[in-house]
Amino acid sequence: MNVARMSARLGVGLGAGALIAMLLGLTACMALGGGRDAGDAAGRAPGSPGSTTKPQPAAAAAAPSAKLAARGYDPLQTFAPLTLPDPVNAFRAGDGAPGGAYWQNRADYVIHATLDPARQQLSGEEAIHYTNNSPRPLESLWIQLDQNSYRPDARARFVHDRLDAPSTPGYVLEAVATEQHGRRVRADYVVSDTRMQIRLPQPLAAYGGKLTVHIRYHYTVPDGGFGGRTGYMPSTNGPIYDIAQWYPRMAVYDDVRGWDTLPYLGNEFYLEYGNFDYYVTVPRDMVVAGSGELQNPQQVLSAQQRQRLARARTSEQTVTIRSAGEAALAARQPAQQGTRTWHFQMQQTRDVSFAASRAFIWDAARIDLPAGAHAGAHALAMAFYPVESAGPNGWGRTVQFIKDAVQNFSRRWAVYPYPAAIAVAGSVGGMEYPGIVFDDYRDTGKTLFFITAHEIGHTWFPMMVGFNERRHQWMDEGFNTFIDVYESQDFNHGEFAPKSDPEFAPGHAPAADQIATLLSDPHLPVMMTLADQVPQKYSHPLNYFKSAFGLVLLREQILGPERFDWAFRKFIHDWSYRHPTPSDFFRAMDSAGGEDLSWFWRGWYFHNWRLDLAVRDVQPLDGDWQQGAVVTVANLDRLVLPALVRITLADGSTQQLRLPAETWIQQDTATLQLRTHQRVTAVVIDPDHLLPDADRSNNSWRAPAPGR
Ligand SMILES: [Zn+2]
Repeated sequence: MNVARMSARLGVGLGAGALIAMLLGLTACMALGGGRDAGDAAGRAPGSPGSTTKPQPAAAAAAPSAKLAARGYDPLQTFAPLTLPDPVNAFRAGDGAPGGAYWQNRADYVIHATLDPARQQLSGEEAIHYTNNSPRPLESLWIQLDQNSYRPDARARFVHDRLDAPSTPGYVLEAVATEQHGRRVRADYVVSDTRMQIRLPQPLAAYGGKLTVHIRYHYTVPDGGFGGRTGYMPSTNGPIYDIAQWYPRMAVYDDVRGWDTLPYLGNEFYLEYGNFDYYVTVPRDMVVAGSGELQNPQQVLSAQQRQRLARARTSEQTVTIRSAGEAALAARQPAQQGTRTWHFQMQQTRDVSFAASRAFIWDAARIDLPAGAHAGAHALAMAFYPVESAGPNGWGRTVQFIKDAVQNFSRRWAVYPYPAAIAVAGSVGGMEYPGIVFDDYRDTGKTLFFITAHEIGHTWFPMMVGFNERRHQWMDEGFNTFIDVYESQDFNHGEFAPKSDPEFAPGHAPAADQIATLLSDPHLPVMMTLADQVPQKYSHPLNYFKSAFGLVLLREQILGPERFDWAFRKFIHDWSYRHPTPSDFFRAMDSAGGEDLSWFWRGWYFHNWRLDLAVRDVQPLDGDWQQGAVVTVANLDRLVLPALVRITLADGSTQQLRLPAETWIQQDTATLQLRTHQRVTAVVIDPDHLLPDADRSNNSWRAPAPGR
């Protein structure tokens, strides 16, 4: 989602003070090994025959810890072995892939729901077919009741100081039953905030035990003004409903912590995968856009609409399925009596959502997926929006934005798995669900482009790669923002490039320099902080921007695209429709990328360490430029990164030298001996501003002007 815009709409307050102290306490516990014996390393000269690093006198390298502590860099700390939070075991392998005994539970849903606009009410009846694939019998089940976050006593209100915001009664549970071995019994359950525990009459067997949970319920649909990720708003031709978190959803039981029951305080979701079969009943004159594939077009669409849809399936250009004129005409008709039921299915998904309105203009076009991807399948890009949003700089471009983004992400990372990719204009200012996203109806131009690409980009993270968003916002938001960087670069020959918006590089300076400024904020929480503890004002800078920029560094500066792309695709493939942890990701990139990146994970994800490289001195070798030059560089702070050094010579030519991270594995000062054969006039570290260097004033050296 796009948190900043949504919270602005909600007027979410911040209460940061004490929280930051807690955060700092927490992150300090993550401190790291460093207990390695330093005796031998201290006296050994760095460099080896043939390298460009000149041996240093042993005395200069003696007792590095004492000397370096004062200067902020200690190789023994930065390069210490890193113990990741989640262990390797039979379920999660040392190479970051699912282990041989990996298991995951499963939830398949059948839902019948009715939207009653007269009462702003959604009522439903669901059957959750749940499979316990775990090695443990389950005595109880936990189910998520997200609508309870609108209750007057919801915990979320206290976290965000929103006690005076409007409320709803939340979920009203009319009947809850479980069905095991053909026996259906009334459930014994307890509701606590946004969770419900069902105590089972007999345990659900391990290794494949199945049961069905039946729930009949209703809730009041929140007004879009306070609904956040779901709600309704008026428009010229009728209200628009963005419907999400609309049925009780299974909590995840996993090998990491059993039932994950963190309440819904505002951070996103952690959900099981399964197949969905759902029916939405609405007034006759409403159009429904839903996750997955419409099953009964003959019953709910006109012959003309079906013909236009068939045309869109083969059209690169946007095809109008329902025009502005047709939407206006429908609005002028006297309200039609009766209802219609729209039937959708979606396979292998963690959720479904839908939108409904009689005001919708409806556009569609074909999405071209790489050959070999679910053979014969067509994917459709679709947009639903009111006349207020129409226009060539407005939502009229949305289908092409979706089409391009889905094609780009499919080509670069993994093929889009669903039959449709839909964007809906309404009250929700940017929120993703599988196969459907809700964006602000007022968005135009570049904003509409980046929000559309971002929200549909969430298909890859967390809809395919099933991150635990509630704990690790930096994973789904950062990974998605990372792939968006390349979509911004590629779209329409760079029409909106480079990516610079509230999610990534919001200012005017190069992105790396903006990150350097961010890292100088002592209150910035570290990435591994529990998402609920990250104050709103740091959500975008940390979990979108810093997280995405970390992957940019990893791809462009540390591994290089060839190694990164292969490893990242393997990670996506290995964990599609599964639940990876941060530890799995770090191990996956180490193993498939071919590096022990402990120093990067530690500096970037477990700490907010800063980089400060400096040119210390430039001298002729043995007093003679003809012999060569000796460039002394230093690492002054705790982060290390590979860096480019550009040397300019008297004749104006340049040489480039790439310092690997290992330059600093034993030392804080490196002496680079170069065969230049002429006077050096300038030396610059990171001349293109690709690294977040904290102090650029010491990055360059210039020869004194002649005659001085
Ligand atoms: Zn997002």
